[in-house]
Amino acid sequence: MSETLTIALSKGRIFKETLPLLAHAGIVPKDDPETSRKLILDTSQDDVKLVIIRASDVPTYVEYGAADIGVAGKDVLMEHGGEGLYEPVDLDIARCRLMTAGPVGMKEPVGRLKVATKFVNSTRRYYAEQGRQVEIIKLYGSMELAPLVGLADLIVDLVDTGNTLKANGLEPLEHIADVSSRLVVNKAAMKMKHARVKAFIAQIAEAVKQRQG
Ligand code: AMP
Repeated sequence: MSETLTIALSKGRIFKETLPLLAHAGIVPKDDPETSRKLILDTSQDDVKLVIIRASDVPTYVEYGAADIGVAGKDVLMEHGGEGLYEPVDLDIARCRLMTAGPVGMKEPVGRLKVATKFVNSTRRYYAEQGRQVEIIKLYGSMELAPLVGLADLIVDLVDTGNTLKANGLEPLEHIADVSSRLVVNKAAMKMKHARVKAFIAQIAEAVKQRQG
């Protein structure tokens, strides 16, 4: 009997960049999530389904076994806390850096630093490791705005080219972590569907290696 595999992916960049890796494993989705409203996509393999969810929900689906496998950014995994999942392959896609950033030429304010971010846990951990006391202000987006309107001194955000920061008069300051997308695997699925999951991981790892040249 063949075992089903459910793979959790988010729309957009991760989906697009994961497609060629899935194709290497012989898996081609039957719908395009950018145009379809379906949340469960059939694939060229009858026993492989894709579930299309928010990037930040991928670790939860995989941890609870609603999906056997998922693709999530390291930023999302750092926020979620990685203990409930295996993280066997760095897919080397959607690369960027998690950084602090502030107004160009800013002087450190006296008193406690105010830091706006959606990466609350990673930010708290980063400053705690350095023994620095900060006030963290949780935002859900457009973090760059916070220092411009006096909501915060600094932000913690993902930086790729740096253009978004620059366009808002900000500059990257401290590097917190390198980020790329990772394959994550449910711990029970790794045991119960061992051969299937292992073979899938090997095919994806090989596709990553080939792409890296
Ligand atoms: P950039 O202007 O190229 O530095 O890109 C920064 C903007 O794109 C920020 O708003 C980030 O949140 C977002 N961003 C950059 N890289 C990624 C990534 N790999 N995953 C998710 N968001 C990203």
